[in-house]
Amino acid sequence: MFIDSHCHLDFPELQTRLPEVLANMATCKVSHALCVSVDIPDFPNVKKLAEDHAHLYASVGVHPDYEDTPEPSFDFLVEEAKHPKIVVIGETGLDYYRIGDRSYESMEWQRERFRIHIRAAIASKKPLIIHTRSSSADTLRILKEEGADQIGGVMHCFTESTEVAMTAMEMGFYISFSGIVTFKSAKDLQETCKQVPLERMLIETDSPYLAPIPYRGRTNEPAWVSKVGEFIADLKGIPIDQLAEHTSNNFFQCFQIDR
Ligand SMILES: [Zn+2]
Ligand SMILES: [Zn+2]
Repeated sequence: MFIDSHCHLDFPELQTRLPEVLANMATCKVSHALCVSVDIPDFPNVKKLAEDHAHLYASVGVHPDYEDTPEPSFDFLVEEAKHPKIVVIGETGLDYYRIGDRSYESMEWQRERFRIHIRAAIASKKPLIIHTRSSSADTLRILKEEGADQIGGVMHCFTESTEVAMTAMEMGFYISFSGIVTFKSAKDLQETCKQVPLERMLIETDSPYLAPIPYRGRTNEPAWVSKVGEFIADLKGIPIDQLAEHTSNNFFQCFQIDR
């Protein structure tokens, strides 16, 4: 059995065909999935998915790429994180990829939002889902400054260097690989993936985006985390069952879920 540690089932591409998407999970032996919150207006939807389905879990948080959106307060995050199916805070982090011609200083709102998520996670004793793009040095610095090693979590859709992975693991974070690792162009990431021990690894789809080979370009869905798992097992030269068992155990451990 595989587990999709990061998907967006509330996005219209997936929610409008939810029965089929859930059936495909069962067919591909994907036992659980984590539905990840990206903003406050859609959060009730994400929460409801987890409430309605025993094998779905949810997060609460506001994505760093969402600009014209209500800011989450510390109190809001802590309150929502009390829900038994809200197992993690995020996705949060930094994303300087779309900074364009704006200055570093003008992105302070993103760093402030990130700090609020970390503080709420520490107060809630729940882990964090970290999104980082073109910003790994700042991401690691802020995690350190805020004491995120007390709670850990996951570096999701990991595309950074082996060095960044090692530093994050030292701080108690798991490293989660998406369909990107299956792409022919992802040679460096595949090398990093070989270096990340099975004990610290998660797998995800980030669906509806980033469909793995052989589905690249199509609308991704949680069932296809099985393709990510198969690819990594092959890359590491280990049996698929071993990869599936470790990454599933890691999921329950990372998100403190009693089976
Ligand atoms: Zn993300
Ligand atoms: Zn995401």
